[in-house]
Amino acid sequence: MELRFTEEEIAFRQEVRAFIRGNLPAKTLERMRLGYPPTKSDVVTWQRILNKKGWATYKWPQEYGGQAWSPTMRMIFQDENMLAHAPEVNSFNITMIGPVLIQFGTPEQKERFIAPTANLDIWWCQGFSEPGSGSDLASLKTSAVLDGDHYVVNGQKIWTSTAHHADWIFALVRTNPQARKPQEGISFLLIDMKTPGITVRPIISIDGSHHFNEVFFDDVRVPVTQRVYEENKGWDVAKFLLGNERTGIARLGKSMARLEDIRELSPHLRNHGAPLLDDKLQRERVASLEIRAKALEITQLRVVAKMMQQSDGKPDPFSSLLKIKGGELGQDTSELIMDAVGPLAMPQWAKELDLLNRESGENEPPIGPDYAGFAAGPYLMHRASSIAGGTTEIQKNILNKAVLRL
Ligand SMILES: Cc1cc2nc3c(=O)[nH]c(=O)nc-3n(C[C@H](O)[C@H](O)[C@H](O)COP(=O)(O)OP(=O)(O)OC[C@H]3O[C@@H](n4cnc5c(N)ncnc54)[C@H](O)[C@@H]3O)c2cc1C
Repeated sequence: MELRFTEEEIAFRQEVRAFIRGNLPAKTLERMRLGYPPTKSDVVTWQRILNKKGWATYKWPQEYGGQAWSPTMRMIFQDENMLAHAPEVNSFNITMIGPVLIQFGTPEQKERFIAPTANLDIWWCQGFSEPGSGSDLASLKTSAVLDGDHYVVNGQKIWTSTAHHADWIFALVRTNPQARKPQEGISFLLIDMKTPGITVRPIISIDGSHHFNEVFFDDVRVPVTQRVYEENKGWDVAKFLLGNERTGIARLGKSMARLEDIRELSPHLRNHGAPLLDDKLQRERVASLEIRAKALEITQLRVVAKMMQQSDGKPDPFSSLLKIKGGELGQDTSELIMDAVGPLAMPQWAKELDLLNRESGENEPPIGPDYAGFAAGPYLMHRASSIAGGTTEIQKNILNKAVLRL
């Protein structure tokens, strides 16, 4: 197995790096470097720049605007984007609903949605989880009852990321409550967020940001033409969508960028008057995280190399390992920075988000320096990485079954 990058791959990395450096808007870079979440306009602008270049939809089949990149090139592209502090493309559009429409959509659905989905003219969100139905997604209760050429949808979704930005939601709904198995009574609907009867209620997360929402459906009428694939076969669509995450799941580039940050922060940070990096324990901690990042990079390359040898293109169950280890590394690198800057971190972050909900001029002046301001948000938000996209326990269940065969 070859774990080294080829000449072509090294040249590709340089090309990606140069493109991002030359095209990422300065304001976006500044926000992202400081660790703040990208604004909606940051994401839309960057996705359109990438789409013009043909790179937003690189994972899609070539006839729909995809690139003939190897899994290693995809991994390089993702890592470089993260290292350069570029916003990620809207994954609901690019990783989830786009490939679903390509695989399962009717010709009319493809014609209507695919190009605006690629260009982020439509912002999608994902309506899967419900109170009581997260890991056990097939138990979902939101109902859709056929009434002529419409479904009437009633129920509630939760943890719906960016629903407050979204133009459309793709949702799993129960169309047959009497089905033999819960999976057999689910359908997959595309719903315009402007349809009467939809209410979006914010959930403010621990870092003070508004990312999550509850979405309520109250007699929402959805044309049958907006159902993807067959009635009661939505679980097949959901499985395809959830299995679509492949390389990049470890989000290694983000952790590596954070390890770069700690090096840049070092001159500012002191421990009892001495430079923090003179502290033996701190040096050991940084070195240990760097070793883990290197080990994860090698494991990721091994998984990618294996995927390249498989002809079915199915995600390797080892990607669950990447998800667990990548999430842990993300949590530990953000904790390293938080510990290093300590109490200096919080006030700057709170000011930026205007947590006190005052006019910006009325905020208390930050007591922390700018360089410390970015630590708190990513640290707090990273606690969620062992839940999002399938919890650590669920990933371990997958590994037990598919890899250890227990
Ligand atoms: C950052 C983030 C973004 C998200 N965005 C979205 C979104 O846009 N749309 C959406 O629909 N959802 C979204 N979610 C929700 C996410 O999919 C769920 O949180 C996740 O599936 C877990 O479900 P739950 O929260 O109901 O926890 P539960 O499933 O209730 O789990 C609770 C605990 O029990 C454990 N557990 C459950 N079942 C088992 C089992 N069989 N074996 C062992 N342990 C088990 C879990 O690991 C966990 O520790 C998001 C979540 C996060 C954190």
